[in-house]
Amino acid sequence: MIVAKTVQEVRAQAARWKREGHTVGLVPTMGYLHEGHASLVDKARSMCGKVVASDFVNPTQFGPNEDLEAYPRDFDQDCALLEEHGCDLVFYPSVEEMYAPDAATYVEILSDMPKQLCGRTRPIHFRGVCTVVSKLFNIVQPDFAFFGQKDAQQLAIIRRMVRELSYGIEIVACPIVREADGLAKSSRNTYLSPEERQAALVLSRAVFRGQELAASGLRSPRELLDAMTALIQAEPLARIDYVSAVDGVTMMPAQELREGVLVAMAVYIGKTRLIDNFIVGGADA
Ligand code: AMP
Repeated sequence: MIVAKTVQEVRAQAARWKREGHTVGLVPTMGYLHEGHASLVDKARSMCGKVVASDFVNPTQFGPNEDLEAYPRDFDQDCALLEEHGCDLVFYPSVEEMYAPDAATYVEILSDMPKQLCGRTRPIHFRGVCTVVSKLFNIVQPDFAFFGQKDAQQLAIIRRMVRELSYGIEIVACPIVREADGLAKSSRNTYLSPEERQAALVLSRAVFRGQELAASGLRSPRELLDAMTALIQAEPLARIDYVSAVDGVTMMPAQELREGVLVAMAVYIGKTRLIDNFIVGGADA
C-alpha cells in the first residue's frame, strides 16, 4: 500500500491508474479505523480496480467546543487495517497540506437541509464536510466514493452536492456495522467508560424498537418517536439531542412513516455524542 502525504502524489498516482484503465474508488475517513470503515474498503475493493482511502481529521467540520483535539488517532493501526483489506493507497495529509493558512473557500448547501438533525447542534459541520469531500473528489477524481449509512445526513448531503456540482462520481452507501451487542461502531466509542458503554446500548435498542414498530405497520411518526424517546429517557446516563423522522432525501420532517423515511437520533452518553438511525423499509429492517 502506498502512503501518500501530499496532494500532488495522490493526484499523480490516481491519474496514472486511470490512464492505465483502472476504475478508482475513494473511501474518505477520519482515521481510528474499525470494521465499519473496513466494510467501506471491502465494498470499494469489490467494485473498483484501485482503492484509495483518506485518513484525515478534518478541522473545518468541528465546531469551536467540539472534540477536534481529543479525536482519537492511530495511523499505524489504520495502515494495518487498510492493508489487510486490500487498500492500494492511503492519503494521510497534514492540516497544512489540505488548508492554506488563509483558506477561505467553502462548499455549502444553502438550504434548510444541513440545518436539520445534526446541523442543529453542529451548525458549521456539513459545510466542513462538503468542503473537504469536495477537495478529496478534486484530488483523487474517483469513479466511485463510499460512505456509511451510519452518517445518514452526511450521505444525503454528499449525494446532493454531487448532483448539484455535477461531479461525475457514483456515491455508494454502505450499511451500518454494529458491535455484537448492537452498538453502532464508531471511533468515538473509545471515549465511553465501561458504564457509559453499557448505557450507550439505548441507541441501538431504540433503533431496533423503532424498526419493529415501523414494520408492524405504524404510520404515525409521532407515536414512533414517542416510543423511542421514552426508551432512551429511561437510561439515566443518556441525554437526547434529537430523535427525528425525516424524508430520506430532503431531511425535512416526515408526515408519515413511508418506505425511505429516515429515523435518526443523536444522544449524549455522558459527554460523548453518539448517532444511530434506520430507514423505514430499509435492507436491515
Ligand atoms: P468517520 O471516520 O467517522 O468520518 O467515518 C468515515 C466513513 O465511515 C463515513 O462514511 C462513515 O459513515 C463510515 N462509517 C463510520 N462508522 C460506520 C459504521 N459503524 N458502519 C458503516 N459505516 C461507518
